[in-house]
Amino acid sequence: MSATAPTTPDTTQTDVLIIGAGPVGLFAAFQAGVLGLRCEIIDVLDRAGGQCTELYPEKPIYDIPAVPGCLAQDLVDRLLEQCAPFDFPMHFGQRADSVTDTAGPDGHPRLLVTTDAGKRFDVAAVLVCAGAGAFAPQRVALPEAVALENRHLHYAVREVSHFAGKRVIVAGGGDSALDWALALRKVASRVTLLHRREGFRAADHTVSAMRAAVAAGEMDFVVGMLGSLQTGDDGSLVGAIIKSRDGDQTLAADELVALYGLVSEPGPIAHWDLDMHAGRIHIENTTTYETSRRGIFAAGDIAVYPNKQKLILSGFHEAALALRRAYHYAFPDKALVHMHTSNNPGLKAKLTA
Ligand SMILES: Cc1cc2nc3c(=O)[nH]c(=O)nc-3n(C[C@H](O)[C@H](O)[C@H](O)COP(=O)(O)OP(=O)(O)OC[C@H]3O[C@@H](n4cnc5c(N)ncnc54)[C@H](O)[C@@H]3O)c2cc1C
Repeated sequence: MSATAPTTPDTTQTDVLIIGAGPVGLFAAFQAGVLGLRCEIIDVLDRAGGQCTELYPEKPIYDIPAVPGCLAQDLVDRLLEQCAPFDFPMHFGQRADSVTDTAGPDGHPRLLVTTDAGKRFDVAAVLVCAGAGAFAPQRVALPEAVALENRHLHYAVREVSHFAGKRVIVAGGGDSALDWALALRKVASRVTLLHRREGFRAADHTVSAMRAAVAAGEMDFVVGMLGSLQTGDDGSLVGAIIKSRDGDQTLAADELVALYGLVSEPGPIAHWDLDMHAGRIHIENTTTYETSRRGIFAAGDIAVYPNKQKLILSGFHEAALALRRAYHYAFPDKALVHMHTSNNPGLKAKLTA
């Protein structure tokens, strides 16, 4: 049953909502701009790039057409640069939670997407570029951790000022953990980096910077694992028991920042009544990449069909075709005239400005 989308001040109306700002979502935004579609992009993370940025930013990629080789993060930066002329809003820290069929004032079908942070998008089409699913932080596996979350236990640093003058434990051995330990030492009363072993997954120059800061007495490094978290009478964090080969030790702490990396979860999209195969969206029609639900398209790693290749270039192609179909939902009475960017004076001016 369709209903007219309730228009509230916090409902954004646009042509296409792109879910996921990984490489495929970013290229899709560029394609939307080329076709004359308005779009907005959301991602549950606090930055663009998807797997390229989160999993392998410094690994080279050799199979992007016309790019003989570049680092994964460089590819993301170039995709951001490519879609920048269209200036489409990107909303980070927003997980797409639900989608409802609605109708516009003219009776044409529309979709209303809501996010976990309360944003609402009233759109003609949705392009799901959700990759392996919504990335979520790997959580501290201690029962007492849940009550401390977002108060004294953090899985991301949102405001550095929150840590000013506090005793902070930063747990983890990757780039994020080391970068934040180094950054927070400038505002915290004391920072202790906690990692289960002497070796790190972080870049060599970051490890060197951390070791230099420890040698200079600007921060501490402890090898061990969180055994339990200690709280005061008011429920705030006061310290942690650290387990190591040499036995247990207590570290006094006001804040714990746990940066153990990300895990991907299928997330709410798995309950959108789409034809799903093993956690991915099954595509029947590979000329449009429309899912089993009208107006919802899928491209990139989340989309599956016979002979699907989980490659960035496959996602680019899928997104380009999906948006051409989405155009007809956004402009049901208009024909989509194929034009090369170089033959379209308005577009050419925009892209070369
Ligand atoms: C180590 C490694 C090396 C690789 N090397 C190559 C290579 O050399 N060449 C190549 O072509 N491919 C390579 N790949 C594969 C490539 O990274 C993927 O094909 C590509 O990232 C898929 O892009 P995507 O945009 O579909 O998804 P992703 O990159 O996974 O991005 C999806 C985004 O969607 C967001 N998201 C998910 N669900 C939601 C939701 N409900 N709400 C809001 N946001 C959501 C996620 O947070 C994420 O940011 C490699 C992969 C790995 C792991």
